[in-house]
Amino acid sequence: MAHARDPIADLRRIAFLLERANEATYRVRAFRSAAQALAGLPAAELTERAGNGTLTELAGVGDVTARCVAESLAGEEPVYLRRLVATEGSDLDAEATALRAALRGDCHTHSDWSDGGSPIEEMALAAVELGHEYLVLTDHSPRLTVARGLTAERLRRQLDHVAQVNAALPEGFRILTGIEVDILADGSLDQDDDLLARLDVVVGSVHSGLKDERSKMTRRMLKAVANPHLDILGHVTGRMVSSRPAGVTGPGDRGHRARTRAESDFDADAVFAACAEHDTAVEINSRPERQDPPKRLIRRALEAGCRFAINTDAHAPGQLDWQRFGCERAALCGVPADRVVNTWSAEQLVAWTHDRT
Ligand SMILES: [Zn+2]
Ligand SMILES: [Zn+2]
Repeated sequence: MAHARDPIADLRRIAFLLERANEATYRVRAFRSAAQALAGLPAAELTERAGNGTLTELAGVGDVTARCVAESLAGEEPVYLRRLVATEGSDLDAEATALRAALRGDCHTHSDWSDGGSPIEEMALAAVELGHEYLVLTDHSPRLTVARGLTAERLRRQLDHVAQVNAALPEGFRILTGIEVDILADGSLDQDDDLLARLDVVVGSVHSGLKDERSKMTRRMLKAVANPHLDILGHVTGRMVSSRPAGVTGPGDRGHRARTRAESDFDADAVFAACAEHDTAVEINSRPERQDPPKRLIRRALEAGCRFAINTDAHAPGQLDWQRFGCERAALCGVPADRVVNTWSAEQLVAWTHDRT
């Protein structure tokens, strides 16, 4: 006869996998509370109750969890757990996987020079580990004081620093210089022109006045998109969503769930038409709490003929691995790899951005 497994550990494992797959909270809770209820039970009573089918008399234990316990005690991996393990990691369809594999870098990342949590070196090393060929460093611009946006002077210093860091990094990888520049209320960009011209990649985003009325927001975005310095339009709608995609849970979960924000209101078709006309890429922001733009807008940008950049907007090294979430969304909308600027090599990317300036 097979050795009994630890039924409590199996229940907890199931809860963990459900949670990671972003399943409904009540399902997760069913397994957690069953684990808790049974953890206090003497082993002999657990076995006895599993044998005579009275586990469900205990508060917090239902039919499904009781069956899992019986299977565990019989030395079998519970069917429920087996199914979860079998589908684990297979939530990406082939297209999303291929798209992720085609990405050669990330065009939107932050370091501790602004509101990121880690030094540039650490971000770069994590990117090397992920197999990237480049990382565009895009710290915030001066007016975003809450995020310690870089003044022109600090940005100049950062450029010198990046040159030094690059010299020490493995061959075949480099940090590209960049900025996430605020799109100001009048549509102008929050950094000196000469600096914007000098940077490899310029991401521009709206961070203020997100509730502005439609015509005002549209004008603001149209002006920014037409600016030859702007290469990528960042997190287009500014929304914050409550749900996280499959695979993301963690200590920050609760805080992120609480902070939701509606999409800002603008004429998306006009903005995407302008992006296509000026060859400004539309960012597909991979951050779980952003998922921006929403899929319906990704589809419209695709129809408008826009290019895309699938970025993480990482503020810490581990977040650099979030690109797969953006890829899933892009794949669901049928975005082909050849429309995505970060499938290009660093040389191609920089040739494109400089061509536009
Ligand atoms: Zn930031
Ligand atoms: Zn931003």
